[in-house]
Amino acid sequence: MDIRNCKSCGAMFQYVGDPVCPKCHEALELKLAEVKDYLKEHEFATVAEVSEEVDVAVKQLHRWVREERLMFAPGVDTGMVCSKCGVPIPSGSMCSKCKEQLKNAFSQANRKEGHYVEQRSTSQSSKERMHLSRYK
Ligand SMILES: [Zn+2]
Ligand SMILES: [Zn+2]
Repeated sequence: MDIRNCKSCGAMFQYVGDPVCPKCHEALELKLAEVKDYLKEHEFATVAEVSEEVDVAVKQLHRWVREERLMFAPGVDTGMVCSKCGVPIPSGSMCSKCKEQLKNAFSQANRKEGHYVEQRSTSQSSKERMHLSRYK
């Protein structure tokens, strides 16, 4: 059994992947609901404002934003920036442009891989092997 100290209140609890105890976890969930309610009424509230009004740490707000459980209005300064290009972002860890670029890079890499395999299999055809062995 993995017993740890809660990162929030310091109480001992059975660790199951969460850095805080079940009590604090529940309290955080309630806070998140409160934050969401606040954002419904104050659509263009900033992170700093929410942090002050709902009494949540800016760090915690940022964590929720990174986990994409919380979203601020587009254009609102969240204090969070794209991890690649540094533009302010309302949610996640990257701006939509960089996300798109990453996706394209991935599919391009996949295409290259497929091409490579194809080339290798043709070079292994008997004709090619004979050709190569003649020049050895
Ligand atoms: Zn706790
Ligand atoms: Zn970016």
